[in-house]
Amino acid sequence: MTPTVVILGRPNVGKSTLFNRLAQRKIAIVDDRPGVTRDRKEAPARIAGHDVTLVDTAGLEEAPPDTVAGRMRASSEAALRAADLVLFVVDVRSGLTPSDRAFAAWLRRSSLPVLLIANKAEGRGGAAAAMEAFELGLGDPIAVSAEHNEGLGVLHEAVAEALGEPRDEEEDEPAADDPERPLRLAIVGRPNAGKSTLLNALLGEERMITGPEPGLTRDAIAVEWRDGTGGRVRLVDTAGMRKKARIEDRLEQMSVAATLGALKEAEVVVLVVDALLGMDEQDLRIARLAEREGRAVVIAFNKWDAVEDREATRRRLTDVLTASLAQLKGISVVPLAALTGRGVDRLMPAVRAAYALWNRRITTGELNRWFEAALTRHPPPAVDGRRVKLRYATMPKARPPTIAVFGTRAEELPEDYRRYLVNAFREAFAMPGVPIRLQLRGTR
Ligand code: GDP
Ligand code: GDP
Repeated sequence: MTPTVVILGRPNVGKSTLFNRLAQRKIAIVDDRPGVTRDRKEAPARIAGHDVTLVDTAGLEEAPPDTVAGRMRASSEAALRAADLVLFVVDVRSGLTPSDRAFAAWLRRSSLPVLLIANKAEGRGGAAAAMEAFELGLGDPIAVSAEHNEGLGVLHEAVAEALGEPRDEEEDEPAADDPERPLRLAIVGRPNAGKSTLLNALLGEERMITGPEPGLTRDAIAVEWRDGTGGRVRLVDTAGMRKKARIEDRLEQMSVAATLGALKEAEVVVLVVDALLGMDEQDLRIARLAEREGRAVVIAFNKWDAVEDREATRRRLTDVLTASLAQLKGISVVPLAALTGRGVDRLMPAVRAAYALWNRRITTGELNRWFEAALTRHPPPAVDGRRVKLRYATMPKARPPTIAVFGTRAEELPEDYRRYLVNAFREAFAMPGVPIRLQLRGTR
């Protein structure tokens, strides 16, 4: 059975337009005049990988407009009985009406899962107006413009999340909180940093689910185990297990190519650094690659047993990080000795923590409260003497956390202001060491 998603709202808020947008074909008839007779519309739709039956209730509530309650009983209620999810649409241009409030109150009592859609939120003031819908008590309004095709990405994400099934395009992406779906971990670093030793230490302590097995290529292996938190981990790095001789042939080139492959597969990357040698350009390059690929990163300072002055070494290593890895500010570092096992038990909790942050979603409301404060504290600079007017922000996706900022000429914001926004976001929502994506979307 495909889930049924019902679009509900008073006449003329844009239900049919939204229906057409989501169904991606013109089925419903859009008309300016409220009360135009329309049939009940149903269409199969695919929303962020979910096959759903989309139901447009436009027309249903257009029975004699006596009372809202009457309209509800007469029509929409029937459609709602079959609903797995309700998209409750309000019109931010006209503002909230008593009818909206009555619908909202009914929905709150119904215990149906509801997403609040603030439609017609395009252009100047749209997002701010959308915020008004908070007061309906149905959670964060999702600001969209069905007609101008804005905000639909966020809506798709929210629908997929509300329906709670894995999305097709992310089929092998584990849900953050499901211990049965393995976290994909890469262990990367320069040759001899101690990657294989570390893996063995991790496996030695934990219950192994599948041992090293021959994979597709001669060098590939598949290792999966349960860590101390009880969750599964799958190693996606193969470089650490390759035959030494092969790597040493064409050392640099090979390790970068293999590393990049692992990074693309991984969710969290453990960069193993030989603390005796310190961080060099190659370590930094790997860390930057991980950041560029949008992965969560944890750094293991290995061979800590052999370090003489730990305080000085730690300072030296973190100084390099601060100076050269601003993109991963506050990244978590774990000093350990893979060989003796000391400190190894602190690695996976750090990995899980980084993973949780990487998966974290911030509600639109929370995000915009932060966004407004950040703009007040430090308003965007003029570009070529013209004002850049930023309106609102959304978080279209996590993994890694991605913020979309909308506004006039938003895409022209200078680099240092972008950095300011990213850093302010990272601090406000405590996401040290997580790569953060900023998308700037100009609106008229
Ligand atoms: P319904 O009665 O709720 O199904 O509403 P319709 O989809 O028929 O739309 C009512 C009117 O609102 C039409 O004139 C649409 O063109 C208009 N409309 C729908 N979506 C938007 C939007 O995002 N922005 C603006 N400005 N108008 C919209
Ligand atoms: P890989 O090339 O990154 O897989 O590195 P290996 O795991 O093969 O380790 C390279 C060398 O470093 C080996 O001689 C290990 O014994 C040594 N090594 C690994 N971890 C540690 C450690 O925690 N302390 C010390 N002193 N040596 C280590």
